Amino acid sequence: MNTFIPFSLPQLGQEEIDEVVDTLKSSWLTTGPKVEKFEFNFENFIGKDVKAISVNSATSGLHLALEALGISKGDEVIVPSLTFTSTAEVVRYLGADVVIVDVDPMTLNINIDKIKSAITSKTKAIIPVHFAGLSCEMNDILLLAKEFNLKVVEDAAHALPSCYKGNKIGSLNSDATVFSFYANKTITTGEGGMVVTRHLDISNRIKIMRLHGIDRDIYNRFQSKKPSWNYNVVAPGFKYNMTDIAASIGIHQLKKLPDFLIKRKHLADRYFDAFSDLPIITPPNVKLGGVHAWHLFVIRLKDNANLSRDAFIQILSEKGIGTSVHYKPLHRQPYWRKRYNLKDVDFPAADSAFKSMVSIPLYSAMTFKQQDYIIESIIEIFND
Ligand SMILES: *Cc1c(COP(=O)(O)O)cnc(C)c1O
Repeated sequence: MNTFIPFSLPQLGQEEIDEVVDTLKSSWLTTGPKVEKFEFNFENFIGKDVKAISVNSATSGLHLALEALGISKGDEVIVPSLTFTSTAEVVRYLGADVVIVDVDPMTLNINIDKIKSAITSKTKAIIPVHFAGLSCEMNDILLLAKEFNLKVVEDAAHALPSCYKGNKIGSLNSDATVFSFYANKTITTGEGGMVVTRHLDISNRIKIMRLHGIDRDIYNRFQSKKPSWNYNVVAPGFKYNMTDIAASIGIHQLKKLPDFLIKRKHLADRYFDAFSDLPIITPPNVKLGGVHAWHLFVIRLKDNANLSRDAFIQILSEKGIGTSVHYKPLHRQPYWRKRYNLKDVDFPAADSAFKSMVSIPLYSAMTFKQQDYIIESIIEIFND
Protein backbone atom coordinates (compact mmCIF):
# COMPACT_ATOMS: atom_id res chain seq x y z
CA MET A 1 0.00 0.00 0.00
CA ASN A 2 1.53 3.33 -0.93
CA THR A 3 -1.05 5.80 0.35
CA PHE A 4 -0.45 7.22 3.79
CA ILE A 5 -3.07 6.40 6.41
CA PRO A 6 -3.36 9.51 8.58
CA PHE A 7 -3.79 9.23 12.33
CA SER A 8 -7.17 10.93 12.11
CA LEU A 9 -9.60 12.21 9.48
CA PRO A 10 -13.03 13.82 9.77
CA GLN A 11 -15.98 12.16 8.03
CA LEU A 12 -17.86 14.83 6.08
CA GLY A 13 -20.50 14.34 3.40
CA GLN A 14 -22.67 16.22 0.93
CA GLU A 15 -25.13 17.06 3.75
CA GLU A 16 -22.55 19.18 5.58
CA ILE A 17 -21.47 20.85 2.33
CA ASP A 18 -25.06 21.67 1.32
CA GLU A 19 -25.87 23.07 4.77
CA VAL A 20 -22.80 25.32 4.77
CA VAL A 21 -23.68 26.55 1.28
CA ASP A 22 -27.23 27.22 2.45
CA THR A 23 -25.86 29.28 5.33
CA LEU A 24 -23.52 31.24 3.08
CA LYS A 25 -26.40 31.99 0.68
CA SER A 26 -28.57 33.15 3.59
CA SER A 27 -25.99 35.87 4.34
CA TRP A 28 -26.31 35.17 8.10
CA LEU A 29 -22.85 33.86 8.99
CA THR A 30 -22.45 34.35 12.72
CA THR A 31 -24.53 33.03 15.64
CA GLY A 32 -28.11 32.65 14.40
CA PRO A 33 -30.72 30.07 13.40
CA LYS A 34 -28.25 27.24 12.65
CA VAL A 35 -26.63 27.60 16.06
CA GLU A 36 -30.06 27.59 17.69
CA LYS A 37 -30.98 24.40 15.82
CA PHE A 38 -27.68 22.69 16.66
CA GLU A 39 -28.10 23.51 20.37
CA PHE A 40 -31.71 22.29 20.34
CA ASN A 41 -30.72 19.01 18.66
CA PHE A 42 -27.83 18.57 21.08
CA GLU A 43 -30.14 19.05 24.07
CA ASN A 44 -32.43 16.36 22.68
CA PHE A 45 -29.50 14.05 22.03
CA ILE A 46 -28.25 14.25 25.63
CA GLY A 47 -31.78 14.27 27.09
CA LYS A 48 -32.73 14.81 30.76
CA ASP A 49 -33.69 18.48 30.10
CA VAL A 50 -30.11 19.73 29.84
CA LYS A 51 -29.26 23.14 28.45
CA ALA A 52 -26.66 23.13 25.66
CA ILE A 53 -24.62 26.28 25.06
CA SER A 54 -22.44 26.24 21.95
CA VAL A 55 -19.01 27.87 21.94
CA ASN A 56 -16.06 28.20 19.57
CA SER A 57 -13.99 25.49 21.33
CA ALA A 58 -14.05 23.12 24.27
CA THR A 59 -11.29 25.23 25.79
CA SER A 60 -13.63 28.26 25.78
CA GLY A 61 -16.38 26.04 27.18
CA LEU A 62 -14.21 24.86 30.08
CA HIS A 63 -13.18 28.46 30.78
CA LEU A 64 -16.80 29.65 30.79
CA ALA A 65 -17.96 26.76 32.98
CA LEU A 66 -15.33 27.49 35.63
CA GLU A 67 -16.05 31.22 35.43
CA ALA A 68 -19.75 30.57 35.94
CA LEU A 69 -18.89 28.49 39.01
CA GLY A 70 -16.98 31.43 40.47
CA ILE A 71 -13.49 29.92 40.33
CA SER A 72 -10.95 32.69 40.95
CA LYS A 73 -7.57 33.58 42.42
CA GLY A 74 -6.74 31.63 45.56
CA ASP A 75 -8.80 28.61 44.52
CA GLU A 76 -7.46 25.19 43.59
CA VAL A 77 -8.82 22.90 40.88
CA ILE A 78 -7.83 19.23 40.62
CA VAL A 79 -7.06 17.77 37.17
CA PRO A 80 -5.41 14.54 35.94
CA SER A 81 -1.87 14.60 34.56
CA LEU A 82 -2.76 12.54 31.51
CA THR A 83 -4.72 15.12 29.54
CA PHE A 84 -4.44 17.91 27.02
CA THR A 85 -3.17 21.18 28.46
CA SER A 86 -6.61 22.82 27.89
CA THR A 87 -8.04 21.03 30.92
CA ALA A 88 -5.54 22.84 33.13
CA GLU A 89 -4.86 26.13 31.31
CA VAL A 90 -8.41 27.42 31.78
CA VAL A 91 -7.89 27.32 35.55
CA ARG A 92 -4.93 29.67 35.16
CA TYR A 93 -7.00 32.02 32.94
CA LEU A 94 -9.02 32.72 36.09
CA GLY A 95 -5.95 33.18 38.27
CA ALA A 96 -6.67 29.99 40.21
CA ASP A 97 -4.16 27.19 40.69
CA VAL A 98 -4.10 23.70 39.25
CA VAL A 99 -3.46 20.63 41.36
CA ILE A 100 -2.30 17.88 39.02
CA VAL A 101 -2.82 14.29 40.20
CA ASP A 102 -1.96 10.86 38.87
CA VAL A 103 -4.30 8.56 36.94
CA ASP A 104 -5.45 5.01 37.55
CA PRO A 105 -2.90 2.62 36.00
CA MET A 106 -5.60 0.52 34.31
CA THR A 107 -8.22 3.00 33.06
CA LEU A 108 -5.85 5.98 32.72
CA ASN A 109 -8.66 8.11 34.15
CA ILE A 110 -8.10 10.38 37.16
CA ASN A 111 -7.23 8.36 40.30
CA ILE A 112 -9.94 8.93 42.89
CA ASP A 113 -7.68 8.20 45.89
CA LYS A 114 -5.25 10.81 44.56
CA ILE A 115 -8.08 13.35 44.30
CA LYS A 116 -8.93 12.66 47.93
CA SER A 117 -5.40 13.23 49.16
CA ALA A 118 -5.05 16.42 47.06
CA ILE A 119 -8.06 18.15 48.60
CA THR A 120 -7.22 21.19 50.74
CA SER A 121 -9.27 24.06 52.18
CA LYS A 122 -8.65 25.91 48.91
CA THR A 123 -9.98 23.17 46.62
CA LYS A 124 -13.06 24.34 44.71
CA ALA A 125 -13.48 21.97 41.78
CA ILE A 126 -12.47 18.75 40.03
CA ILE A 127 -12.18 18.37 36.25
CA PRO A 128 -12.30 14.66 35.41
CA VAL A 129 -11.38 13.72 31.84
CA HIS A 130 -13.04 10.69 30.24
CA PHE A 131 -9.81 9.48 28.71
CA ALA A 132 -10.10 8.11 25.15
CA GLY A 133 -13.90 7.95 25.59
CA LEU A 134 -14.01 5.65 28.63
CA SER A 135 -16.09 7.23 31.37
CA CYS A 136 -14.53 7.98 34.75
CA GLU A 137 -16.09 6.37 37.85
CA MET A 138 -18.46 9.30 38.14
CA ASN A 139 -20.44 8.02 41.14
CA ASP A 140 -17.27 8.01 43.23
CA ILE A 141 -16.20 11.44 41.98
CA LEU A 142 -19.63 13.00 42.54
CA LEU A 143 -19.85 11.48 46.02
CA LEU A 144 -16.44 12.85 46.94
CA ALA A 145 -17.39 16.25 45.51
CA LYS A 146 -20.53 16.30 47.61
CA GLU A 147 -18.65 15.35 50.77
CA PHE A 148 -16.12 18.18 50.33
CA ASN A 149 -18.50 20.67 48.68
CA LEU A 150 -16.60 20.76 45.39
CA LYS A 151 -17.82 21.59 41.88
CA VAL A 152 -17.40 19.06 39.07
CA VAL A 153 -16.84 20.05 35.44
CA GLU A 154 -16.42 17.06 33.14
CA ASP A 155 -13.94 17.41 30.30
CA ALA A 156 -15.87 15.27 27.82
CA ALA A 157 -13.77 16.19 24.78
CA HIS A 158 -13.30 12.45 24.14
CA ALA A 159 -16.67 11.29 25.39
CA LEU A 160 -19.29 11.90 22.70
CA PRO A 161 -21.21 9.69 22.96
CA SER A 162 -20.14 7.83 26.10
CA CYS A 163 -22.37 6.35 28.78
CA TYR A 164 -21.77 5.68 32.44
CA LYS A 165 -24.04 3.09 34.07
CA GLY A 166 -26.68 3.56 31.37
CA ASN A 167 -26.61 7.38 31.43
CA LYS A 168 -25.10 9.57 28.74
CA ILE A 169 -22.09 11.68 29.67
CA GLY A 170 -23.59 15.15 29.79
CA SER A 171 -26.68 14.00 31.69
CA LEU A 172 -24.99 13.16 35.02
CA ASN A 173 -25.15 15.20 38.22
CA SER A 174 -22.03 17.26 37.65
CA ASP A 175 -22.19 21.06 37.38
CA ALA A 176 -21.27 21.18 33.70
CA THR A 177 -19.92 18.93 30.94
CA VAL A 178 -17.90 20.19 28.00
CA PHE A 179 -17.63 18.53 24.56
CA SER A 180 -15.20 19.37 21.74
CA PHE A 181 -15.83 19.52 18.01
CA TYR A 182 -12.20 20.02 17.07
CA ALA A 183 -11.31 18.48 13.69
CA ASN A 184 -10.08 15.14 15.10
CA LYS A 185 -12.88 14.54 17.61
CA THR A 186 -15.76 12.06 17.15
CA ILE A 187 -17.82 14.78 15.48
CA THR A 188 -16.48 18.10 14.24
CA THR A 189 -17.44 21.65 13.34
CA GLY A 190 -13.85 22.52 12.37
CA GLU A 191 -13.45 24.30 15.67
CA GLY A 192 -16.21 24.26 18.25
CA GLY A 193 -17.50 23.03 21.56
CA MET A 194 -20.64 22.57 23.63
CA VAL A 195 -21.25 23.15 27.32
CA VAL A 196 -24.08 21.12 28.78
CA THR A 197 -25.60 21.77 32.19
CA ARG A 198 -28.81 21.14 34.09
CA HIS A 199 -28.38 24.30 36.16
CA LEU A 200 -30.17 27.38 34.80
CA ASP A 201 -27.98 29.85 36.71
CA ILE A 202 -24.86 28.33 35.15
CA SER A 203 -26.30 28.26 31.62
CA ASN A 204 -27.49 31.86 31.93
CA ARG A 205 -24.08 33.07 33.09
CA ILE A 206 -22.33 31.16 30.27
CA LYS A 207 -24.69 32.63 27.67
CA ILE A 208 -23.87 36.14 28.88
CA MET A 209 -20.12 35.58 29.13
CA ARG A 210 -19.69 33.82 25.77
CA LEU A 211 -20.66 37.08 24.04
CA HIS A 212 -19.02 40.11 25.66
CA GLY A 213 -21.05 40.01 28.87
CA ILE A 214 -24.12 41.26 27.06
CA ASP A 215 -27.27 40.33 28.95
CA ARG A 216 -29.75 39.29 26.28
CA ASP A 217 -32.27 38.01 28.80
CA ILE A 218 -32.60 41.36 30.55
CA TYR A 219 -32.83 42.87 27.09
CA ASN A 220 -35.54 40.48 25.99
CA ARG A 221 -37.60 40.58 29.15
CA PHE A 222 -37.74 44.27 29.92
CA GLN A 223 -36.64 46.13 26.87
CA SER A 224 -38.20 44.30 23.96
CA LYS A 225 -39.19 47.57 22.32
CA LYS A 226 -35.64 48.88 22.49
CA PRO A 227 -33.62 48.90 19.25
CA SER A 228 -30.89 46.23 18.98
CA TRP A 229 -28.06 48.73 19.50
CA ASN A 230 -29.31 49.46 22.98
CA TYR A 231 -27.95 46.43 24.81
CA ASN A 232 -26.58 46.13 28.34
CA VAL A 233 -23.06 45.02 29.15
CA VAL A 234 -23.16 43.51 32.63
CA ALA A 235 -19.66 41.95 32.83
CA PRO A 236 -16.33 41.93 30.94
CA GLY A 237 -17.24 38.88 28.86
CA PHE A 238 -15.47 36.95 26.13
CA LYS A 239 -15.84 36.39 22.37
CA TYR A 240 -16.53 32.66 22.42
CA ASN A 241 -19.71 32.27 20.34
CA MET A 242 -20.11 29.63 17.62
CA THR A 243 -20.79 30.72 14.03
CA ASP A 244 -23.72 29.48 11.93
CA ILE A 245 -21.16 28.17 9.43
CA ALA A 246 -19.72 25.86 12.09
CA ALA A 247 -23.15 24.87 13.41
CA SER A 248 -24.20 23.92 9.86
CA ILE A 249 -21.53 21.21 9.91
CA GLY A 250 -22.43 20.21 13.47
CA ILE A 251 -26.14 19.67 12.74
CA HIS A 252 -25.31 16.87 10.28
CA GLN A 253 -22.37 15.47 12.23
CA LEU A 254 -24.67 15.02 15.24
CA LYS A 255 -27.25 13.23 13.06
CA LYS A 256 -24.55 10.84 11.88
CA LEU A 257 -23.06 10.28 15.34
CA PRO A 258 -24.89 6.99 16.05
CA ASP A 259 -23.56 5.54 12.78
CA PHE A 260 -20.07 6.88 13.49
CA LEU A 261 -20.16 5.14 16.88
CA ILE A 262 -21.14 1.79 15.34
CA LYS A 263 -18.20 2.06 12.95
CA ARG A 264 -15.75 3.08 15.69
CA LYS A 265 -16.87 0.22 17.91
CA HIS A 266 -16.54 -2.23 15.04
CA LEU A 267 -13.00 -1.00 14.35
CA ALA A 268 -12.13 -1.26 18.06
CA ASP A 269 -13.46 -4.84 18.23
CA ARG A 270 -11.34 -5.79 15.23
CA TYR A 271 -8.22 -4.37 16.93
CA PHE A 272 -9.00 -6.34 20.11
CA ASP A 273 -9.27 -9.58 18.11
CA ALA A 274 -6.13 -8.90 16.12
CA PHE A 275 -3.86 -8.01 19.05
CA SER A 276 -4.84 -10.69 21.54
CA ASP A 277 -1.62 -12.71 21.02
CA LEU A 278 0.79 -9.78 20.68
CA PRO A 279 2.91 -8.17 23.43
CA ILE A 280 0.46 -5.28 23.52
CA ILE A 281 -1.78 -4.06 26.33
CA THR A 282 -5.09 -3.22 24.68
CA PRO A 283 -7.19 -0.40 26.14
CA PRO A 284 -9.65 -1.11 28.97
CA ASN A 285 -13.23 -1.60 27.85
CA VAL A 286 -16.39 -0.35 29.54
CA LYS A 287 -18.17 -2.02 32.43
CA LEU A 288 -21.83 -3.04 32.38
CA GLY A 289 -24.09 -0.16 31.32
CA GLY A 290 -21.21 1.73 29.79
CA VAL A 291 -20.67 2.98 26.26
CA HIS A 292 -17.15 3.78 25.05
CA ALA A 293 -17.00 6.59 22.47
CA TRP A 294 -13.73 5.17 21.06
CA HIS A 295 -12.30 8.60 20.32
CA LEU A 296 -8.85 7.05 20.75
CA PHE A 297 -7.43 3.54 20.62
CA VAL A 298 -4.41 3.72 22.91
CA ILE A 299 -2.24 0.62 23.02
CA ARG A 300 0.73 0.08 25.33
CA LEU A 301 3.78 -1.98 24.47
CA LYS A 302 4.60 -4.66 27.03
CA ASP A 303 8.12 -4.95 28.39
CA ASN A 304 8.58 -8.23 26.50
CA ALA A 305 7.85 -6.45 23.21
CA ASN A 306 11.57 -5.58 23.26
CA LEU A 307 10.80 -2.45 21.31
CA SER A 308 10.63 1.15 22.41
CA ARG A 309 7.51 3.20 21.84
CA ASP A 310 9.49 5.63 19.68
CA ALA A 311 10.89 2.82 17.52
CA PHE A 312 7.38 1.38 17.10
CA ILE A 313 6.10 4.78 15.92
CA GLN A 314 9.05 5.11 13.53
CA ILE A 315 8.43 1.70 11.92
CA LEU A 316 4.71 2.42 11.45
CA SER A 317 5.52 5.80 9.99
CA GLU A 318 7.87 4.15 7.46
CA LYS A 319 5.00 1.82 6.56
CA GLY A 320 2.80 4.87 5.90
CA ILE A 321 0.73 4.75 9.08
CA GLY A 322 0.16 7.86 11.19
CA THR A 323 0.10 7.56 14.98
CA SER A 324 0.11 9.89 17.95
CA VAL A 325 0.73 9.90 21.71
CA HIS A 326 -1.99 10.95 24.16
CA TYR A 327 -0.39 12.52 26.01
CA LYS A 328 2.97 13.69 27.11
CA PRO A 329 1.57 14.18 30.62
CA LEU A 330 1.20 17.62 32.16
CA HIS A 331 3.86 16.88 34.78
CA ARG A 332 6.35 16.57 31.89
CA GLN A 333 5.28 19.81 30.21
CA PRO A 334 7.76 22.59 31.01
CA TYR A 335 5.24 25.20 32.15
CA TRP A 336 3.33 22.93 34.54
CA ARG A 337 6.47 21.14 35.73
CA LYS A 338 8.20 24.40 36.62
CA ARG A 339 5.22 26.22 38.09
CA TYR A 340 4.31 23.39 40.46
CA ASN A 341 7.75 21.81 40.84
CA LEU A 342 6.46 18.44 39.62
CA LYS A 343 8.46 15.19 39.63
CA ASP A 344 7.90 12.08 37.50
CA VAL A 345 7.99 9.83 40.60
CA ASP A 346 4.83 11.45 41.92
CA PHE A 347 2.92 10.33 38.81
CA PRO A 348 3.95 6.67 38.43
CA ALA A 349 0.84 5.54 36.52
CA ALA A 350 0.71 8.40 34.00
CA ASP A 351 4.48 8.31 33.61
CA SER A 352 4.78 4.61 32.94
CA ALA A 353 1.78 4.69 30.58
CA PHE A 354 3.34 7.61 28.73
CA LYS A 355 6.58 5.73 28.10
CA SER A 356 4.86 2.78 26.40
CA MET A 357 1.71 4.27 24.86
CA VAL A 358 0.80 4.82 21.21
CA SER A 359 -2.52 5.95 19.76
CA ILE A 360 -3.19 4.10 16.52
CA PRO A 361 -5.68 5.25 13.85
CA LEU A 362 -9.35 4.77 14.72
CA TYR A 363 -11.94 6.96 13.03
CA SER A 364 -15.25 6.45 11.30
CA ALA A 365 -13.87 7.45 7.88
CA MET A 366 -11.26 4.65 8.02
CA THR A 367 -11.96 1.64 5.80
CA PHE A 368 -11.65 -1.95 7.04
CA LYS A 369 -9.09 -2.46 4.28
CA GLN A 370 -6.97 0.35 5.74
CA GLN A 371 -7.36 -1.18 9.17
CA ASP A 372 -6.31 -4.61 7.84
CA TYR A 373 -3.12 -3.02 6.56
CA ILE A 374 -2.45 -1.42 9.99
CA ILE A 375 -3.08 -4.75 11.72
CA GLU A 376 -0.83 -6.69 9.31
CA SER A 377 1.90 -4.08 9.74
CA ILE A 378 1.77 -4.35 13.54
CA ILE A 379 1.77 -8.16 13.49
CA GLU A 380 4.76 -8.04 11.13
CA ILE A 381 6.70 -5.87 13.61
CA PHE A 382 6.43 -8.57 16.28
CA ASN A 383 7.03 -11.50 13.92
CA ASP A 384 10.34 -10.12 12.67
C1 LIG B 1 -9.41 18.33 22.34
C2 LIG B 1 -9.39 18.45 23.80
C3 LIG B 1 -9.66 19.65 24.47
C4 LIG B 1 -9.80 20.96 23.76
O1 LIG B 1 -10.74 20.98 22.77
P1 LIG B 1 -10.82 22.26 21.80
O2 LIG B 1 -12.19 22.16 21.22
O3 LIG B 1 -9.74 22.08 20.78
O4 LIG B 1 -10.62 23.47 22.62
C5 LIG B 1 -9.75 19.65 25.83
N1 LIG B 1 -9.53 18.54 26.55
C6 LIG B 1 -9.22 17.37 25.96
C7 LIG B 1 -9.02 16.15 26.83
C8 LIG B 1 -9.13 17.28 24.58
O5 LIG B 1 -8.80 16.13 23.99
